[in-house]
Amino acid sequence: MTGPTKNRIGIYPGTFDPITYGHLDLIDRALALFDHLIVAVAVNPAKVHLFTPEDRRDMILECLKLLETKDSERRLEVVIFSGLLAHLAVERGATAILRGLRAVSDFEFEFQIALTNRTLAPSVEAVFLMPNAKYTYLSSTIIKNVAQYGGDVTKLVPPIVVQRLAQRYQQAGGASSARS
Ligand code: ADP
Repeated sequence: MTGPTKNRIGIYPGTFDPITYGHLDLIDRALALFDHLIVAVAVNPAKVHLFTPEDRRDMILECLKLLETKDSERRLEVVIFSGLLAHLAVERGATAILRGLRAVSDFEFEFQIALTNRTLAPSVEAVFLMPNAKYTYLSSTIIKNVAQYGGDVTKLVPPIVVQRLAQRYQQAGGASSARS
């Protein structure tokens, strides 16, 4: 049975401090499921971040050029948001909120958040995607730990992020302790 075609809008929220190849892998997979994907950079005053929301957004925009999916630039949007994700999802008419699951340890927290979001926005589904196995261990926190001490992260994050991390830790004299 075929119903009317619907413009499927996905929303992928996160801290992206900074974006990694794991995040990009998920974005690529999401483009196969959604017509339009909104990558939403969270502003969370309770967390200490290495990069400003604007820096995080600009790095994401630069990295999206690396995606192989046809039309990806036209189908993607990057926004900065504060407040409740469920409200943004409803406001933007999102079909689903997308999150990544790397390991079982991610599940419990994500399950809790997804059910809370469902209470706030019953029309918005939760979709979980798994990255390519080679990225399952990757997190922004690990990247920052390695980069902070001059480790090579070229296989883990796109070139613009390698550059920005090096600049940032040079400015901080290698002493920043920001985490996400
Ligand atoms: P948050 O602070 O909201 O968890 P992150 O930027 O750390 O923000 O992660 C955003 C989303 O991307 C989360 O759903 C997280 O599970 C997912 N994610 C992060 N790194 C990876 C990865 N290597 N593979 C797949 N998903 C990932």
